[in-house]
Formats: sequence, structure tokens, C-alpha cells
Amino acid sequence: MQRFASPLVLPLICASLWIVAGSAQAATAIQDRADRFLSLVNAGYQALYRVNSEAQWAASTDVTPAHDAASEVAGKAYAAFNGNPALITEARALLDHRSELDPLTVRELEKAIRNAAEGPMTNPELVAARVAAETQQASTLNSFEFKLHGKPVTANGIDDLLLSTTDLGERRAIWEASKESGPALKPGLIKLRDLRNGVAHELGYADYFALQMAAYGMTSAEMVKLNDDFMRELRPLYLQLHTWVKYTLAKKYGQPVPRLIPAHWINNRWGQEWPGLVDAADLSPYFKGRSAEWVVQSAERFWTGIGLAPLPPGFWKNSDLYALPANSTRKKNTHGSCWHVDLATDIRSLMNVEPNPEWFETAHHELGHAHYFMAYTRPEVPPLLRDSANPGFHEGIAELGELAAAQVPYLQQIGVLPVDFKADEIAFLLNDALNGSSIPFMYWASGTMTHWEADVYAGKLPVSEWNARWWQYVRDFQGIEPPAPRGEEWCDAATKTHINDTPCYYPNYAFATVLRYQLHDHIARSILHQPPQRCNYAGNPQVGAFLKGIMEKGATGDWRKVLRDATGEDLSTRAMAAYFQPLQAWLEAQNKGRAPGWE
Ligand SMILES: [Zn+2]
Repeated sequence: MQRFASPLVLPLICASLWIVAGSAQAATAIQDRADRFLSLVNAGYQALYRVNSEAQWAASTDVTPAHDAASEVAGKAYAAFNGNPALITEARALLDHRSELDPLTVRELEKAIRNAAEGPMTNPELVAARVAAETQQASTLNSFEFKLHGKPVTANGIDDLLLSTTDLGERRAIWEASKESGPALKPGLIKLRDLRNGVAHELGYADYFALQMAAYGMTSAEMVKLNDDFMRELRPLYLQLHTWVKYTLAKKYGQPVPRLIPAHWINNRWGQEWPGLVDAADLSPYFKGRSAEWVVQSAERFWTGIGLAPLPPGFWKNSDLYALPANSTRKKNTHGSCWHVDLATDIRSLMNVEPNPEWFETAHHELGHAHYFMAYTRPEVPPLLRDSANPGFHEGIAELGELAAAQVPYLQQIGVLPVDFKADEIAFLLNDALNGSSIPFMYWASGTMTHWEADVYAGKLPVSEWNARWWQYVRDFQGIEPPAPRGEEWCDAATKTHINDTPCYYPNYAFATVLRYQLHDHIARSILHQPPQRCNYAGNPQVGAFLKGIMEKGATGDWRKVLRDATGEDLSTRAMAAYFQPLQAWLEAQNKGRAPGWE
């Protein structure tokens, strides 16, 4: 950061004085200079984005050492362009004249700076050290071998055991085994905290957390406050849910009702969702006899049915949608994802679709991303701004597809559920509230994850307090406690993959969750005139037109205005609380005479 100060500031002050004293012609000259610069940057960005995506795609769909090596090379070329010192210098020089530039130009320049900040080649040693440390951490993470009673167990194996084991002693052993990767990952995380903050400093951001929040035009403190507001507003519902779950689990395990929920009682290692508690909402039997192809085609029929243009033919040719046969020698990534390979019409999805409710919802989710890519791929949106209004919008729209796909009337219309199916509405709502990114998830994402990473990156929390702070937040926000005290020899935060490889990302998930319910509420009430808990988007072109209005803007406008123009409302958990209102009333009746909370 300092290295820029003296050589640049002086000539820029002079230049701006000259502009003020000069004529409109000078302002036009600045805009012309920016236009010329940005046409070069957009072209280079799009070309290298494509080279990088192609290489990453090959490495994700066919995992080989050669593809890994090629993707590393492509990643370096992409970063070398984005973080090029000449690019940084000119973008900053132009931004010093932001008042003379049109707003779209300013947004493009700011995006170029944020891209550069991930790997600013003004400090190549720092960038190289970060790349090496990120690679090392990923390797430690991927190769860590969990052990249970001295025998190796995979992470999936741990999850399966938690879902099926009822003996509390054994559950504690499984949960404790899941925390053993923390100490192995801690040294790398300490190093990465400093290197990530270092690259952010290089371009003038206070810290890495602040850099990530800049995409919202918000400071770290503003983002933390927004997340605190989410939690405060949803707290009455969370307390009822927490109380009901606490009593239900105590009964299940034959234990006295605790004040805080012991972490090893919950089927998720971090308590970020609370699965396995509602049998009446299990849709698995209804997918028997369906094909995986039918699942993906249904998802595309959903999006085109609401009036969005069909995905380009290349999507069906180039995507990798289905699980590999057991005897396949090829290895591919198992998570669902969607790719805008060339920031134009080459759109692909990587999935492992099987005919079950989880993949049915995931297919609606991933194709939501694909239709978002299509909507903003138009000449009015320059490649640098072919992105969502803020990072939470992309996930919010994709999650909206999932929420719509889980609505009973929709499932009846497309024949998954029989027409005379009588849904236990409370069971469905309870299932919605407990699983996926919903109510407990908000206290994990907005609470524990956001606060801990803000403390570590922005607050420079001493390493000697990392684990104590982590459990303070788990207790305060989530109402969960470990089976026994966890000292600083552990680093339980680092057992979460995203703490290592996707830092400071959880505010995006919390935002997306709130946004999803807000958009859904608007669609259900104002467009479909149906109750949000039981509605059907299928075949309604007004729903598609509403979403297209949001999506086709890409990142060209302020997200607050995009949201207000679309829904008439500012960001709020109002819709989320309203969606679960019938559940809240039911929980209050169930919890009558019980003391909610853990204070
Ligand atoms: Zn997604």
C-alpha cells in the first residue's frame, strides 16, 4: 500500500486541478481514456476467464495430475492479468476522477480493483507465498485421515455414523474424531490469515474480510451489524425451535433436558443444520422409478416454463450431469456446480444427479445459476460486470429455485406426488426450518462463522484465543456446547472446509437465505396470489419476467436499488419470519410450560 503513496498521489492531484480548471472537454478526455482502458481490460479478462475456466473444468470433471498442473498454470495466467501492476495503476488513477466518469465505468473499475486484490502483482513475493500456502492448506485438508477407535474413517463416514448412532458415548467419540483435523490445519490457517490480509492491504483494504465485503459496498462493521440484525429479528423463532429440538433430543437419548444442546447430540458436526428429526416430510419414496435425466429435464422445464429462454444447446453437450458408473476409471468432483465458462454462451453444470429429492432440488438450484448467467449475457453488461448484483444474489436466486421445487402443489402438478396427497403442513415446515440453509443455519452463518472470521481477519484476534472465541460464539449464537471443554490445543473452526478454502464467505450465504424468502414472498403474494408455504410457480410467465428483471442487470447497479425496485422493500427477514409463522405458533403450543433459551 505504502509503495503507491508518494509517486502517484502528487501527479494525480495536479491532474485533477487541471480538470477542475479546464473544460467539459477534459472530463470527456478522462471518460475516453477509461473507455479505451476498459475495452482492453474487459477483452483480456473475458479471454483469460475462459482459459482458466476450461482448465478448472477439465480438472474437476477428470481429476488427473496433468489436469491439476494445467489448471494451476491457467490460474496463474488469469491472476497475472487481473493483478498486473499496470492495470492496477491505471484503474486507481482513473478512480481518482470518479466524479467525472459515468457510474457504470466506476463500477467496472472497482470490480477490476477487487479482482486485482486477490493477487496483486505489485507484490509478487506476497502473491507467490499466498498461492503456495493456499495449495499446501488444500492438500493438508484433502489428505487428512480421520480415525475412529484407531481405524481410518472418511468425513462422509462420520456423517453417516452420526445419522445412525444413538449411543451417546459412541456419538461423542465420533464427534471428537471429527475435530482432529483442526490442529493439523491450524499452522497453515495462521499463515494464511496473514497472507490474505497482506494481499488486501496491498490495494488499500483494511483486511481480507473488508475486501470481501467491498462487493456489497459495505464495511466489515456494517456487514457484521446486518448479520446481527438478521439474528435479532429471527430470534423468537430460533428460541422456539431450539427448545423443541432440545426436548426432542433429550427424550430420544433418555437424558435430562439440558440448557444448551450438546454438540454431539446433533446429526451435523457443526450444528449448522439439524437433520434427521422429521420423518413425515421424507419425499424419497416418490422418486423411485424416475430417471436422473428426468430430474434435470424437469428442472429445465421449470425455468423455461416461467418464460425464460432455453439453455443453449452447448449446455446439454458440454455439461457433466450424471454420476459415473461404478467401474469408471475417471474421477470427478462430487459437488454440484454451474459454470459460466466464457462469460458468454458457454454455460455448463457439473452434477452427479440421481433420482432423489436432494438432486431434484439441486438441479433446480444449479439451473437457476445457468439462467442467471444467460440473463446478464448481453451487450449492455460488460464482461467485468457479468455477475450478480452482489455475491449473495446468485445463491439467492439459485436457492429460490430449490424452494420452489420443494412446494407440494408443484410436486403434485409434475406428478412426483399424487394429486390427492395430503401434506402434513407442519411437518413440511419443520423440515424446511431445520434443514439446509434455513433457521439454525442463520445462527451458524450470521453468528459463529461471520463473527469468528471478522474477529480473526479484521479484529486480529490473538491465535491464543481462537478456540475459546469459537466456542463462545457457538454457545452465544447457536445455543450449543461441546461435550467437554475444548482448549487451545484444538482449532475447531478449521475443521470446517470453508474456513480454510473459502474465507469470509458466509455472510453471502446468510444474505442469500434472507433474499430467497423475500423474493419467494413477493412472487407468492403479489404475482401468484397463493400462500408462500403452498405455491406453484410452474408455467407462470410473470414469475419469469420478475426474475429476469433482476437477473439481466448483472452487477451494473446497486444491489439495494435492484432489490427495492423489484420488491418495493429493503432487505429484511420479514418474509422469512412470515413463512414460518404457522410453525412458530405450533412450536409455541408444543413448548408451553418450557423455558426457552439458555441464558
Ligand atoms: Zn449455488
